[in-house]
Amino acid sequence: MPKRIAIIAHDGKKGELVEWARRERERLARHQLVATATTGRTLQEALGLEVACVRSGPQGGDAQIAAMVVEGRIDAVIFLVDPLYAHPHEPDIRTVMRLCNVHNVPLATNLATASMVLRGLEEE
Ligand code: PGA
Repeated sequence: MPKRIAIIAHDGKKGELVEWARRERERLARHQLVATATTGRTLQEALGLEVACVRSGPQGGDAQIAAMVVEGRIDAVIFLVDPLYAHPHEPDIRTVMRLCNVHNVPLATNLATASMVLRGLEEE
C-alpha cells in the first residue's frame, strides 16, 4: 500500500540523496513523495518520478512538512541535515524533528536509516 514520504535535504546533502534515490528508485516509486522545493525538483529530474513540492525550506517548506506531520498526512520523513552549515531556518528544522517525535512518525536523518525505513514501510 502506498505511503506518503516527505523528503528534505540541505544543499550539502542533495548529492548523496540523489545517489541513494537512484538506487532506491523502484521502492520510492511505490509511494507518494512530497519534498521541499529544491529537493523535490532535484529528485524529479534525477528519477523521473512525480514529487509534490512545498516551498523551499528557508521559505517555510519545512514548516509545511511539519504541519502535514501534525495532520497525520505523512507516514515517514527523510531529513538530511547538513551539519557543517548554519541554517537561517534552524527553528523550523527543529520543529520538523520535534513533531515527528511528538506524533511518532518515523524520521530518518541519514541514508542508512532511510533505507531501513523504506523497507519497513513495505511491511506495514
Ligand atoms: P530545499 O529546502 O529543498 O528547497 O533546498 C530544504 C531546506 O533547506 O530545508
